[in-house]
Amino acid sequence: MSTDRLVDFDEVTTRYEPVIGLETHVELGTASKMFCGCSTTFGAEPNTQTCPVCLGLPGSLPVANAAAIEATIRIGLALGSRIATWCRFARKNYFYPDIPKGYQISQYDEPLCVGGHLDVQVDGETYRVEIERVHLEEDTGKNLHVGGATGRIHGADHSLIDYNRAGSPLVEIVTRPVPGAGAKAPEVARAYVTELREIIQTLGVSDVRMEQGSLRCDVNLSLNPVGDLEWGTRSETKNVNSLRSVERSVRYEMRRQAAVLDDGGRIVQETRHFHEDTGSTSSGRSKEEATDYRYFPEPDLVPIAPDPAWVQELTDTLPELPAARRARLQQEWGISDTEMQWLANAGALGVVERTVAAGASPADARKWWLGDLARRANEAGTELAELAVTPAEVAELVGLVDAGTINDKLARQVLDGVLAGQGSPAQVVAAQGLAVMGESDELAAAVEAAIAGAPDVVDKVRGGKVQALGALVGAVMKTTRGKADAATVKRMLEERVLSS
Ligand SMILES: [Zn+2]
Repeated sequence: MSTDRLVDFDEVTTRYEPVIGLETHVELGTASKMFCGCSTTFGAEPNTQTCPVCLGLPGSLPVANAAAIEATIRIGLALGSRIATWCRFARKNYFYPDIPKGYQISQYDEPLCVGGHLDVQVDGETYRVEIERVHLEEDTGKNLHVGGATGRIHGADHSLIDYNRAGSPLVEIVTRPVPGAGAKAPEVARAYVTELREIIQTLGVSDVRMEQGSLRCDVNLSLNPVGDLEWGTRSETKNVNSLRSVERSVRYEMRRQAAVLDDGGRIVQETRHFHEDTGSTSSGRSKEEATDYRYFPEPDLVPIAPDPAWVQELTDTLPELPAARRARLQQEWGISDTEMQWLANAGALGVVERTVAAGASPADARKWWLGDLARRANEAGTELAELAVTPAEVAELVGLVDAGTINDKLARQVLDGVLAGQGSPAQVVAAQGLAVMGESDELAAAVEAAIAGAPDVVDKVRGGKVQALGALVGAVMKTTRGKADAATVKRMLEERVLSS
């Protein structure tokens, strides 16, 4: 599709230094919209969640949603921002059909939260991403372009507008430019959005579902020649809506911009679209300057002046944030940085923590979730937490192994049963007779059969080659279909072969 010339990724950073910047929009999970009482529920019939305020009808007046202001302050506090003691909303004037008032109520030079930072880890290195601001605004409606192949306006027959989303509270988190990541820039961008998403999830202020657009990113990127202190012109790739796409869009823009600069060309300051199918970006519109929006303080709303005592209370009641939680668990479980990274990357932290809480040792919990269960989740294309086995059931499984009721091999079969909806591990063991065989008559018979079936092996063992016993153990395990306990079998064989 794309006709852009691209430089090999590995070559880009030999000549250029990338600078990334991220603007993340988070739709807050408040029950009602930012400036009216309309519901914010996702997926309702188009235009059923609207009123004169969010449709911008003449004479309607907005009233700010206190829960949205509180959520924004909590996000700011989690990022270490300074909370404004007094700030105002501003009108951002532009005409788009999805913005019925002809302006968006946003914040401009007086954001609610200023500064802060977020540290992210990539390959054992820490990168500090400085936060510029966190502000509150209202979301736009949604355009639906009908008749084209791509769903974009280009090639469409007509467009429809759904105002259900118009006026929903939206928090925008803007980073300062992040230089110095070099070839890791794509991964640093992804790690930042991942960590931010986790923080917001922990705060419980949004469901941060990228596929539904409740968290979306604009990814800025510029290149400057290595050693050149002046940053290049940036492009802004809009509405990137998956973590993987954040990484891919940075990678693509680095390769594209390097080719333009290599040819002596100039990067145009513009917004670009990211295409999931090809991993490429294409030109959108040339980027407006802030002055184009003719910002001015919103005259219909009173300023926001959060009471310092209230802000203090919000600070004191912040939940344990993801980085602190990881550090605590790492220490409690006695694992290395790398092991913790694996757990976090696999999305296994929560399930392992709950499995440990249900009584399993950290080592066993990690072994099952990162081993068999990770493989099964991968095969099924699902998340660990969505597998049909609960942390409590995994802990029960571990308990059965510890008690000697089943061995690891049988435990895998038990897991199959649990995942197939046959009940808890103990129920599956009982129903399928999967428990390890004790020193029963049945096992004794299997031992006898193995001895009778391999007289040459028996002679070898009696002749001093004790390790040959392994073949007999294997034979017994085979006839009992893995249900015998190998140590017990070995002991029984030794008694029969060596002592007679
Ligand atoms: Zn409304």
